[in-house]
Amino acid sequence: MNRIKFNPDLCVACETVDCLMKCQYLSFTGIEEAKAEKLKINEGKDSRVLHECLTCYACQEYCPYGNNPFFLLVERQEELGILPAPSPIIKEQLKMMDAKGKITKQTVHAPVVDMCAFPMLTGCIRGKLFEGASVFSGTDVFCNIMWLHFAKNSVIRERVPRMIDNIMSYFLTDSGVNELICFHDECYGTYTSLAKGFGIQVPFTPIHLFDYINRRLDEIADRIKPLNVKIVYQRPCSNRLCPQTDTVLDEIFKKIGAERAPRKYDRQTALCCGGVPRAHQQDDLADSLVEKNINDMLTTGATYCVFNCPFCMATLGEEVAQHGLMPILVSDLVQTALGE
Ligand code: SF4
Ligand code: SF4
Repeated sequence: MNRIKFNPDLCVACETVDCLMKCQYLSFTGIEEAKAEKLKINEGKDSRVLHECLTCYACQEYCPYGNNPFFLLVERQEELGILPAPSPIIKEQLKMMDAKGKITKQTVHAPVVDMCAFPMLTGCIRGKLFEGASVFSGTDVFCNIMWLHFAKNSVIRERVPRMIDNIMSYFLTDSGVNELICFHDECYGTYTSLAKGFGIQVPFTPIHLFDYINRRLDEIADRIKPLNVKIVYQRPCSNRLCPQTDTVLDEIFKKIGAERAPRKYDRQTALCCGGVPRAHQQDDLADSLVEKNINDMLTTGATYCVFNCPFCMATLGEEVAQHGLMPILVSDLVQTALGE
C-alpha cells in the first residue's frame, strides 16, 4: 500500500504550523499547542484535531511546504476509527457512489470533458465555448475524492486506480486522446494533488476547467459582450487542492466584465458552504455556515453568486436566490457573456 507522502522532519522544524494555525474551525492557545497536536497526528497518536476537523481540505493549501497535512489527517482518522459521520451514513454513501458497471466504449475527440458523477449537468457543455466537445459521466468514472470527507482513504486507494483504468480503456486510449478537461475541481484535484500525495499514476494530462475556459475566451474574444456586473464567488473546498487556478478565474472574470467583489469568506479564508457538515448530520453547524456565507455575500451588493462546485450550488443556491442573488455556475456565467 502506498503511504501518504509527507516528511515528518519538515513539521518538527516548522515555525508557523500554518496547517492548524490558519484553520477556521479549530482554535489553539498558540503555536505550541498546534504543533503538539500536529506531531501527535504525525506519530499516529490520537489528537483532538482528528475529532473536530470539518474536513474542509484547507490545510492542504495552508501548508507552505506541500506536506499533505489533510491527506495524512484522514489517514489517521481511518487508522484510529474516528469517523466524521455516523457509520450507517458512510455505508450508504459507499454503496450509492460505487461503480455501477454502466459504461460503454465511446470514441471521443478533443476537447473531452469529464463530468464525473454529474450527468445532469451535461447540458452545460454547449455553444462556442465547448464547440465540438465530447463528454462522459457516471459512477464508473466518479473521481472518488469525496471519501476524504468520510475517513476512507482505503476506498480512494481501491477505487481511484480502477476509475482511471475505465477512463483510459473506455474513452481515451482507442481515441488517441491524452488530455482531459475536468468540469469539477474535485476531479482535477484527484488527478493532480491527490494522485501525487497517494502515489497513484495518472496516464493522461488533466486540464482544469478554468484553464480551458480562459484559453478558449482568447480564441473567441470577438464574441464577448462584457457583463459589467458585480459578483461574489463561493470558492469550494476542492479548489484548495489547486489554488493556482483561483487566479486563472480572476482572469476569466476580467475578460467577461464580472467584478469579483471582495468578501470576508473568499480566497484563503473561504468558508465551507455547509454541505459537508450537513452530510455528516451536523445540522446546527451547517446552518451556521450557510448563514455566515449569505450574510457575508449580502454586504457586497453583488448581483450574481457564482459557483464552480455543483454540490456547493445545490447546498446554497436556493438560499442565495431567496436573498436576491442569482446563483450560477462559472461556465454558465461565461456563456451569458457570450450571448448564449
Ligand atoms: S504540515 Fe506543513 S504547515 Fe503543518 S506543521 Fe507540517 S510543515 Fe508546518
Ligand atoms: S481540513 Fe479544514 S477543518 Fe480540518 S484541520 Fe484542515 S483546515 Fe482545519
